[in-house]
Amino acid sequence: MENIAVIGAGTMGNGIAHVLAQKGFTVHLIDAQASALEKALATIEKNLDRQIAKQTISAADKATTLHNITTFDSIEKGVANADLVIEAATENSDIKKKIFVSLDQYTKPSCILATNTSSIAIGQLAAVTKRPSQVIGMHFMNPVPIMKLVEIINGEATASEITETIVALTKKIDKIPCVVKDAPGFIANRILMPMINEAIYAFAEGISDAATIDQIMKLGMAHPMGPLQLADYIGLDVCKNIMTIMEEGFNNTKYAPCPLLVTMVKEGKLGVKTGEGFYKY
Ligand code: NAD
Repeated sequence: MENIAVIGAGTMGNGIAHVLAQKGFTVHLIDAQASALEKALATIEKNLDRQIAKQTISAADKATTLHNITTFDSIEKGVANADLVIEAATENSDIKKKIFVSLDQYTKPSCILATNTSSIAIGQLAAVTKRPSQVIGMHFMNPVPIMKLVEIINGEATASEITETIVALTKKIDKIPCVVKDAPGFIANRILMPMINEAIYAFAEGISDAATIDQIMKLGMAHPMGPLQLADYIGLDVCKNIMTIMEEGFNNTKYAPCPLLVTMVKEGKLGVKTGEGFYKY
């Protein structure tokens, strides 16, 4: 495997392109918005400079990494040579389904199609292609250059040799693969999001203030960040959507988003990205 296309140059796409290019892969970074591509390249350069300052890479490594990335504003132009496509576009199943239809059309038949979705069933995306056995989840964590985990999600139809290829690739880029089945929230979000939701209930009931709730989980459970602060960083809209997808997917109200979470999303208090969530930014 040499050529990898990454669809979506946002928060996750630029990080995925960065780590792949740094490991010597030829990366085509594709986004519908030219401004997102410019911003992604600037972010990658800034993050490479940070690595140089920490003396984990050299100036020559930075130049090679940037040289390995080419940007494209359309899928049609960017995926023809790809051995693997990693889709990291906006978390919306209609958008992703359209992208997978295009990928199926414009990639070579052997190309593997991976998605970085946090919550959409791999089977749903596989079903819009003519190659469901070559569709797999590759759920990177944010920030991609730093976080070691990649949750690898097998759809019902994913072929075992495709999983093996993706596991090997994940190791090659110095990440740690953990293979799971396709189920709402997979494993990471199935466990993380109900914890965050419960913290929001405790806050809403006035059991303690946000800083104390976070402090308890940091000191007591050795979590690097408390659940309410983490929710602010993830985005409260994202947290609510993942809870709703699990509630519907499992048909179980135990996953229903806390009413305060729903209210805060309605009020536009989405966390860091809007300047206010459980904290002010
Ligand atoms: P983002 O909003 O930062 O970036 C998404 C990018 O996709 C945007 O630049 C947008 O222009 C582009 N895009 C939308 N439609 C497109 C199309 N048809 N063709 C090409 N580009 C298109 O989103 P993000 O936070 O990077 O999330 C991307 C994916 O990664 C989502 O599926 C999300 O659930 C998942 N994810 C996010 C995080 C996180 O912490 N942000 C963590 C793990 C997984």
